[in-house]
Formats: sequence, C-alpha cells, structure tokens
Amino acid sequence: MVDDCLFCKIVAGELPSERVDEDEHTVAFMDINPWTRGHALVVPRKHSRNLYEIGEEDLRHTAAAGRRLALRMRDGLECDGVNLLNSCEEPAWQTVFHFHLHVIPRFTDDPLRLPGSPMSPGTDELAAVAAQLRG
Ligand code: AMP
Ligand code: ZN
Repeated sequence: MVDDCLFCKIVAGELPSERVDEDEHTVAFMDINPWTRGHALVVPRKHSRNLYEIGEEDLRHTAAAGRRLALRMRDGLECDGVNLLNSCEEPAWQTVFHFHLHVIPRFTDDPLRLPGSPMSPGTDELAAVAAQLRG
C-alpha cells in the first residue's frame, strides 16, 4: 500500500467504491465518472505506478480479470462490444498512478467517439519508425 494512492485506499476498503469483482490479485469497481453505462476499472491489489512498472504476473491477473468483466458485461448488461483501455503517464491521459484497466462496455448507439484521427505516414516514415523500434 502506497500513501496517498487513491486506488490503494479503495483496495484496502479505506475509501468507498462499488465493487463488482475481486480475486486474490485484483479488485474491480465502477468508475466514478463512467464514459458509458457500466464502465469499470480493474486494478491489481499490489501497487505499481503503471504499465512501465507492473510485474508480469500482476499484468496477467489484471488482464484475466478484465476479460472476466467484459464477458459479464456482454451477458449481464447486454452490451454490443467492449473497449479495454490503459493509460501510461500523463501525456497518455493517466490521472491515477496505480495501474488500472478501463473496461468499457459499448453499445451500438452510444456517444463515445475516437478522440483523434489516424495519420497517413509515407512508407519511408513507417520504415524509419519500425527501424527505431527494432533497435
Ligand atoms: P486514468 O485517467 O486512466 O488514470 O483513469 C482514472 C479513472 O479513475 C478515471 O476514469 C476516473 O473517473 C476514475 N476515478 C477517479 N477517482 C475514482 C474513485 N474514487 N472511484 C472510482 N473511480 C475513480
Ligand atoms: Zn496504489
């Protein structure tokens, strides 16, 4: 548990949340400002800042809990699809610095839209960035 971490406090039961699922490694609860009806968050019980720092085991457990919740959304909320979202560091929209997966049920006519538009890089630029990633 890390002092002043909102989600550590939720995991410890020191702050209220609407829990929907938990197991030995993870807790899932409703997002307080949902993007769609049913938007929930899955967090590992053990604190890690984000994707850069989480251990592989915790990542596996959190992903599995996210899928469990997605299936429950499909069957219980009768959603038409699901988005999994993770934000890593501030430029990528992370606001709470305890790793979490957003599990967002999607409905055919819901108001959620992609926040950006895809770029159209030339083949040289694609090759250049691919080379950088290969290292
Ligand atoms: P992110 O911006 O990816 O770090 O997501 C943080 C999420 O936590 C946001 O969607 C917030 O609405 C949500 N959130 C913040 N405080 C609480 C809280 N006390 N209980 C549930 N969700 C929260
Ligand atoms: Zn924490």
